Amino acid sequence: MDILALIIDYHKDNDRQGPGSEEATIKALGYIPCLNEKTQILDIGCGTGEQTITLAKNTKAQITAVDMLPQFLEKLRQKAIENGLAGRIETKEMLMDRLTFDENSFDVIWSEGAVYNIGFEKGLCLWRKYLKENGYIALSEITWLTDTRPEEIERYWVDQYPEINTIDNKLSVIRKCGYDPVGYFALDDNCWTDNYYKPLMDKAEAFLKMHNNADEVRELIEEHRTESVMYDRFKEYYSYVFYIAKK
Ligand code: SAH
Repeated sequence: MDILALIIDYHKDNDRQGPGSEEATIKALGYIPCLNEKTQILDIGCGTGEQTITLAKNTKAQITAVDMLPQFLEKLRQKAIENGLAGRIETKEMLMDRLTFDENSFDVIWSEGAVYNIGFEKGLCLWRKYLKENGYIALSEITWLTDTRPEEIERYWVDQYPEINTIDNKLSVIRKCGYDPVGYFALDDNCWTDNYYKPLMDKAEAFLKMHNNADEVRELIEEHRTESVMYDRFKEYYSYVFYIAKK
């Protein structure tokens, strides 16, 4: 069975493909001044685009949303039409490390729960040229909230994502890549539980049944279940942190 097709199927009917919330998107937007109908926003790794819709509802901006998966982009297009926002949201199938935009095209770059796919530092450095002078970037990234932590959770996340680090380290990386941080905040618990893990766990049994208890499906579900159990046990030590910075 094609594992990518399974992953797409498991996630595509959910609002979010990573932790987040409408409140968090709006809070991050609050750090960015002068948003108007001329503002061009690029949403990278948009998934099925829940945050894209929030951006469109809470600004007058034009939004270009990119993802490598056409199945997710199709969901976003449907949502945009249902919300009467299709005129301000354009979707493009594109790889985040091979964007084909002109330099200095965007006032704001947005990316929720997605930059880890190419790495935080690489994303920040690669994407900077697409921002206009004095443009803003807002992105969420998994981050240690404390200086030390139990070895079990350290090993688990370093193995999944070696670039996981503390807030101070992430702020240094942002500066190193040529931006001035203007704010940051950690995502609340409900961004992880109600908005991300719960919808996945709620559909797990039916999804497994639909695939005749196939081993690959069981493994996929178990990976998500383990991640959510780790989150419940160790959430005081890490979260996604939203970082907002100016070019
Ligand atoms: N921003 C959304 C989706 C986050 S999941 C949300 O918060 O709900 C990460 C997204 O990045 C997925 O939709 C995945 O298809 C996309 N993605 C992963 N690697 C990518 C790449 N190399 N180029 C473009 N998109 C990628």
